[in-house]
Parts: sequence; C-alpha cells; structure tokens
Amino acid sequence: MSAQVLLPGATGQSGSGQQTTLGVMGGGQLGRMFVHAAQSMGYFTVVLDPDVISPAGLVSHYHIQTDYLDEQGLAQLMQRCSAITTEFENVPAPALLTLGGARITSPSAESVGIAQDRIKEKAHFVRCGVPVAPYAVIQSPAQLAAVADELLPGILKTARLGYDGKGQVRVATRTELASAWAALKGVPCVLEKMLPHASECSVIVARGADGACVNFAPQLNLHRDGILAVTQAYTGNMPENLASEAVEATKSIANELNYVGVLCVEFFVLADGMLVVNEMAPRPHNSGHYTIDSCDVSQFELQVRTLAGLPLSQPRQHSPAIMLNLLGDLWQNNGGKSRINPLENQSDKKQLESDPNYSPPWQQVLALPGVHLHLYGKLKANKGRKMGHLTVTGASVAQVRETALAAAKLLGIDPF
Ligand code: ATP
Ligand code: MG
Repeated sequence: MSAQVLLPGATGQSGSGQQTTLGVMGGGQLGRMFVHAAQSMGYFTVVLDPDVISPAGLVSHYHIQTDYLDEQGLAQLMQRCSAITTEFENVPAPALLTLGGARITSPSAESVGIAQDRIKEKAHFVRCGVPVAPYAVIQSPAQLAAVADELLPGILKTARLGYDGKGQVRVATRTELASAWAALKGVPCVLEKMLPHASECSVIVARGADGACVNFAPQLNLHRDGILAVTQAYTGNMPENLASEAVEATKSIANELNYVGVLCVEFFVLADGMLVVNEMAPRPHNSGHYTIDSCDVSQFELQVRTLAGLPLSQPRQHSPAIMLNLLGDLWQNNGGKSRINPLENQSDKKQLESDPNYSPPWQQVLALPGVHLHLYGKLKANKGRKMGHLTVTGASVAQVRETALAAAKLLGIDPF
C-alpha cells in the first residue's frame, strides 16, 4: 500500500488553503512531544483528552475536551484532522475503529487491540518466533488450578490496562497466586515466570504504510519499582550480536502486524545472553525520549512522518545519551535530602514532603554540560508520576555518565 501524503504547512494555490492538521488521542506527555514535533514541521494539531489541563492539551492548537468514546468529540476530531494517531495504548478500540473508518489513522485499531491485551500480544510474539517468558493464561478457576509449578515464583499481570507496573502482583506460591487473582477481581490475566534477567533493553522502529521501516539502536533500560528510571543509549551499551537480534525481532513483530507508526518493543536479556521479549507499545516510548536531543530525527518526528506519509529517514545518533526520568518523588521527598540527611524530628518531615514551594535544584542541574530538561507541565507531583525527564548528551560515553551521575546526585536519584 502506498501512503497518502499530507504535506505540512498551508496548502492550495499560493498557499491560500487550510493548514494540514494532525490529531492525537490522549493528552499526556507523549502527546505533548508529538504535538511539539508536528508543530515544528508546520502542522496544526488537535488533542482529544477529557482533562481540562493536560500536558498535550496545553500546547496544542485545539483541545477537544471529551471522553474518548464521545461521539461528538470524535466527530469534531475527524472534522478538523486529516490524520489521527494515539499516544497511549489503552484508547478504546471502538474509538479507533470509528476514526479509522473516515480518516487516516495509525497505528490501526487492530494493532492497538493486540498491544493492549497481553494475551493477544504474547500470542503475536510466539507467532513471530520471538521467545517469550514461560507463561499461562488465567481466565477461569480451571486455568488457575492448571498452572504449572515451574511458573512460580512469577508475576501475575492483568491482560489489559496495566502500565508502569500497575495491575501486577508478584507471587511466590500457589496460595499467593490464588489470592492475587481474587484481589484482581478474577479479570483475565497472564502469569509469567519471574526471569532473573541481567538487563533490559528496548527497540523503537517506525514503519510507513509502504512497508519502509527504520529503527533506533537498542536502548539499555533500568527499571525501579516497575517504572523506567534510566535509559542509556550509546554504541557499546550491549553486545552487538544481541543488539542486532533485538532489532530484527522488533522489525519482524512490526512487519507481521503490517504495522504503521512508531512501535517500541521491550526485552529482557537473561544471564546466559538469551533475549526474551517482554511487551510492546504501539506508540513512541519513554525509553526513546533521548532521541529528541541526541538523534537527527526523534521518535516523535518519525511518528509525524509515518502519519503524514512522509519519507522515513534512518535515524543517526549524533551524541551518546543518558536519560533520567523525573518522577513526582523528586518533589515529594525534597530531592532526596530527607533520605540523605534523616531528619531528627519526624514531624518536620511531614512538612517537608508537602512543601508547596519546593522545586528540584534546576539551577545546579542546568549548570552541568549537555543537560536537556523536559518538564511536562503537570501541576501535581504525585509519587511515581512522570513529571519530566532529563537527557544528558556529551562528547563521550564517559563524560555523559559522569554528568548524568552528578545530575542524579543533585536530584536525589539513586546512582546506576
Ligand atoms: P510499562 O508499560 O511502564 O513498560 P508495565 O506495567 O506494562 O510497564 P511490564 O513491562 O510488564 O509492565 O513490567 C514492568 C517491569 O517489571 C519490567 O520492565 C521488569 O523490570 C519487571 N518485570 C516484568 N515482568 C517480569 C518477568 N517476567 N520477570 C522479571 N521481571 C519482570
Ligand atoms: Mg514495560
């Protein structure tokens, strides 16, 4: 299939026509960075998100403030936009089907439907011949009873609606498994064997409607409490053979879906060097935020290009990079100071945690070389909430590491 091309900027004779407008379902930080990329190329943007204040809604030309399934909201979106994408995988499939019936919509409802259901997702990986962690589907008491002992200890994950480690319970015994499933209200789940992995990585590809596919090199990811904490992106971050295996696996996962858009696939690297696929995200990914500052084309620009049917150029990373996620915890624990210098008086601690004037030490952090601060415009810094990220670039891996560790120390982020 050849892609329909939506050129940016004013169209029509002597540029007297309308501005080409691109839409995005969801107003989170991924939508915000998509909007930034689209606008810098000359597109108008529309964000559909129910929240009055959302990171993407705040910066978009238009914000349609309705529910994702609201008929009028979807109608407005289609009326304003030539093409529509999504920034989160839990956007309801019926909404994408409606949009896809009338406008260019990528990724497709079908691809998103597979990515948002761990049972379908794993079946897809298996179909592609990419190894997955040993697992069992649990949708009935009989399936619960039939779980093999070798899957324990394991992680019980809800099939749908999980993110940042939510909807997951670690279980060591059959009794724990049974009560965890009951606590999850018996919704469809998968039980995955807990894999003692040596590291985690991810690969981001962008695939056009014509089948052209480009990729970033694999990123090395460190998760803490089920949330991405640090991404290291530079040549040599992992053995070359593993890196190319991960890229090939990701491309086959995208090709088999006939995928259009940006796709991220997360992997575990086991102690023996074996690569096991964890999950995929049908959108740009937190582990690819470094591409904004250290590559000649970012994951968000590639999302725009795939949506608009523009040529995809193979990204080139011009600087090694380390990305630190800035979670709400940095505001809550006073930049970790309360951890470094335990307070004598615990009643003072309460006051510190809720200090409305506290701000992480941006002045000191920004005095470091090659630091790029991205804050998403969120007003409330809840624990575990992704408030922003920091990308460090530099002339060498050693320099980038040194600066990133210095920034982490200032911010109260544990070293890596
Ligand atoms: P996100 O959407 O933020 O990537 P998620 O909630 O979808 O996260 P997963 O990616 O499934 O969750 O798991 C989060 C993290 O938990 C993984 O990155 C990994 O560190 C750990 N984890 C998940 N599954 C396993 C497993 N089978 N064995 C060992 N660790 C695991
Ligand atoms: Mg994950």
